Amino acid sequence: MKRNHGHSPVSAPARGFASDNYAGICPEAWAMLEQANRGHVVSYGDDPWTARAADAVRDLFETSCEVFFTFNGTAANSLALAHLCRSYHSVICQSRAHIETDECGAPEFFTGGTKLLHVGGENGKLDLAAAEAVVKARDDIHYPKPKVLSLTQATECGTVYTVDELRAVHEVALRHRLLVHMDGARFANAVAALGVAPKEITWKVGVDVLCFGSTKNGAPVGEAVVFFDRELAAEFDYRCKQAGQLASKMRFLAAPLVGLLEDGTWLRNARNANARAAEIAAAFAVIPGVRQAFPVEANAVFLHMPKTLAAGLDARGWHFYDFIGGAYRLMCSWDTTAEDVAALVRDARELAGLKAAG
Ligand SMILES: *Cc1c(COP(=O)(O)O)cnc(C)c1O
Repeated sequence: MKRNHGHSPVSAPARGFASDNYAGICPEAWAMLEQANRGHVVSYGDDPWTARAADAVRDLFETSCEVFFTFNGTAANSLALAHLCRSYHSVICQSRAHIETDECGAPEFFTGGTKLLHVGGENGKLDLAAAEAVVKARDDIHYPKPKVLSLTQATECGTVYTVDELRAVHEVALRHRLLVHMDGARFANAVAALGVAPKEITWKVGVDVLCFGSTKNGAPVGEAVVFFDRELAAEFDYRCKQAGQLASKMRFLAAPLVGLLEDGTWLRNARNANARAAEIAAAFAVIPGVRQAFPVEANAVFLHMPKTLAAGLDARGWHFYDFIGGAYRLMCSWDTTAEDVAALVRDARELAGLKAAG
C-alpha cells in the first residue's frame, strides 16, 4: 500500500483503523476552537488562549516549563533538535524513529548538518547498550560529537518505555553528558498505558525537551514543544519564526489544546484508543495465521496476517498500512468505538471461516 494514497471516502467505513490521524477533531477541542473564534485577540501568540494553553501544559507537568506551539510534529522535533545541537553534533535514536524514517531529513535540514546515528532495539525501543556503544565508539575530532538521546514515547511500534527503562536512559545520558529529547506524538497514550503522572516519565527522568502531540489525541493541528530545562529554550521563538512555524493566529493552535487538557479529555481520549487496541489484539489472537509483531501497549496493533485475510479486509473497506517490518498496522483513535472494533472483528472472523464471536 502506498503511504500517500487516499482511499475512496464512498466505500470506506465511517471510521477505520489505518491511522490515528484519519480521525477528526474531538468535541472538546472543537468547542474551544469555537469559543476562540469569537471576536479579536492579539496575534502571534500574545493572546489569552496561548497563555492559557501554556499554563495548562505547566499544570499537567507540575513544573514551570517553557512551552511553544508548532503546526506539526515534524517541525516540533526538528526545531527542538536544532535548538539542542550544533551542526557538528549527533543525535542517537532508534532505527525506526520518526525523526529517522518519516521526516524527510527535516532534523538534518534544520540542524544544518547534525547527524542522526540510529541503533537497533527490540519493539521500537532504543537498545541502550548499543546507544552507549555508539557514543563511546570514538572521542576524536573526526566523529560527530554525540549530543542528544532521542526517544519516542509511545514508540513507533506501539510499545511504551516504562519508568525504569527511562531511568536507565537517564543514567546513560548523565554518564555521557547527553541531552534527552522525547518525541511524544503519542505521549498521551503512553501516560494512559502506564497510569503515572506525566512528570514521572519526563523531567523527573531527565527529559530535557518533549514534543507533546495533540493532533493524534483529538486536536485539528498543532504540537507543543515543552522545554523542562528553561535555559535551553532561549530564543526558541526566533527559531520557530524563521522556520515558518510562528502562527499569526496562534490561538487556533492553542485553544484545542486547552479543550483537551483542562478537563482531562486528553487522557480519556488516549485511554479509549488504548482500550480499543487491546480489544483488537485479543480478538485477532484467536484467528488462525495471525501473529502480533510487537506487544500491544498503547493504541497500535501490529499484526502479521495471511495475505488473503488482509486482502479480504481491504476489499470490505478496512485499509491498513504495512510500512513497518511487513506487519499490518491497525491504529485506534480517540473516537474508535467498541462497535467499530466489533464490526472489524466480525469481518475478520468471517473471512477466516470462524463462527461469529458469542
Ligand atoms: C505522527 C507522528 C509525528 C508527527 O508527524 P507530523 O505529520 O509531522 O505531525 C511525530 N512522531 C511520531 C512518532 C508520529 O507518529
